[in-house]
Amino acid sequence: MDLALTEEQLAFKQLARDFLVKEVVPFRAEWDRRESVDVAIIPKMGELGFFGLTEPDNGSDPSDLATRATRAGTDWVINGSKIFITNGTWADACMVFARTGGPGARGISAFLVPTDTPGFVRTEIHGKLGLRGQATAELTFDDVRVPADAMVRNERGEPFGVAASKAKLFASEAAVKAANLAIQAFGGYGYVDEYPVQKFMRDARVMTSMKAPARSRSC
Ligand SMILES: Cc1cc2nc3c(=O)[nH]c(=O)nc-3n(C[C@H](O)[C@H](O)[C@H](O)COP(=O)(O)OP(=O)(O)OC[C@H]3O[C@@H](n4cnc5c(N)ncnc54)[C@H](O)[C@@H]3O)c2cc1C
Repeated sequence: MDLALTEEQLAFKQLARDFLVKEVVPFRAEWDRRESVDVAIIPKMGELGFFGLTEPDNGSDPSDLATRATRAGTDWVINGSKIFITNGTWADACMVFARTGGPGARGISAFLVPTDTPGFVRTEIHGKLGLRGQATAELTFDDVRVPADAMVRNERGEPFGVAASKAKLFASEAAVKAANLAIQAFGGYGYVDEYPVQKFMRDARVMTSMKAPARSRSC
């Protein structure tokens, strides 16, 4: 299998890197300390969306998902809650996963929901170990009504990819190991916030917990 990036992917990677070096790196320590970014950066990143799958009572295994969407004429009405949602208080639209059918992963559909829809409430979560410059939110849906064309993936869609989850777990464990080694190499300076390596560790740490297949977990 050829895993090399295409020219287009390499150009996109460079564009993202240039943006981060210019617009984010100079401010990252300050944003990390105050647990918020300068809001002027948000429109510069383009249109933001977010992905609402995790719920207070089920994270690792989305097949138990409890948020429900029920038919009301041609509309869908969504009720439930989500937690730990990245960009939750910043974005204008959210991909919400809700149960439209029976139990298990096959009964889940996805809806594109504008965040200003009545009944959609977003609350920011503070006090994170890392990723402090990024908004993480709790969401509640109280009779949130969306039209039929808001459904972007129905129950018959493909299940979530196990191979993709394994690749994500491998990459996130590599990031934690690299950050840990960086702290070691910096000695005492690696442990204080004068240098960014302690932030790399705090930011990378959450990635191994996020949506990886339970069977391959090592932490
Ligand atoms: C900063 C941050 C950003 C996030 N962003 C998003 C987002 O944008 N969208 C979204 O939908 N979610 C997001 N999440 C949620 C994240 O994906 C979940 O926290 C994660 O999937 C774990 O779910 P949980 O917290 O319910 O823990 P649980 O599922 O309760 O798991 C707790 C622990 O038990 C382990 N475990 C669970 N089941 C098994 C098993 N069968 N065998 C062995 N070990 C097991 C887990 O690995 C974990 O270590 C975010 C979380 C954080 C902290």
